[in-house]
Amino acid sequence: MEVYQKRLESFAKPKRIKPAKGRAVSISWPHDNADYKATPESLAEAGFFYKPELGFPDNVQCYLCKRELSEWEPDDDPLEIHYQKCEHCPWAVLRCGLLHDTDSHQRFVFPDKSRIPSSPFLEQMRYETFQAGKGWPYDEEGDAHRCHSRRVRCTRSLLFSLP
Ligand SMILES: [Zn+2]
Repeated sequence: MEVYQKRLESFAKPKRIKPAKGRAVSISWPHDNADYKATPESLAEAGFFYKPELGFPDNVQCYLCKRELSEWEPDDDPLEIHYQKCEHCPWAVLRCGLLHDTDSHQRFVFPDKSRIPSSPFLEQMRYETFQAGKGWPYDEEGDAHRCHSRRVRCTRSLLFSLP
């Protein structure tokens, strides 16, 4: 689920869930109307894929920090909610947090100086994106590899892993 398209596709089909007792039931994404900011597209962009539970048909899970969220209200913005609730999730910090770095003309102004890309915290967040899923493929070749994720030039150069 590291890839946007896979997360988006997870909303397209009903999911079959087998309760402890009784027959399996099919659950589909319930908010298919324009009143909700939480759409399959906005949720996938915010790092979430569809993972309904019995009693929680709009449950989603972050591919990186594994946090599950449900009971979306019409005004809930997935980018903002993920950023507020998961302050140590690299995807929430790096992608969702961009909302707080720009002015009304979408220019980067970084009103919160701790969010400047060269800060140690954001450097650590970028490094952690290399550990997602199967990890960064060059890490298997050891620290000496020129593109090992631990090498300073990778994380300090504002790169993060986006498979
Ligand atoms: Zn997360």
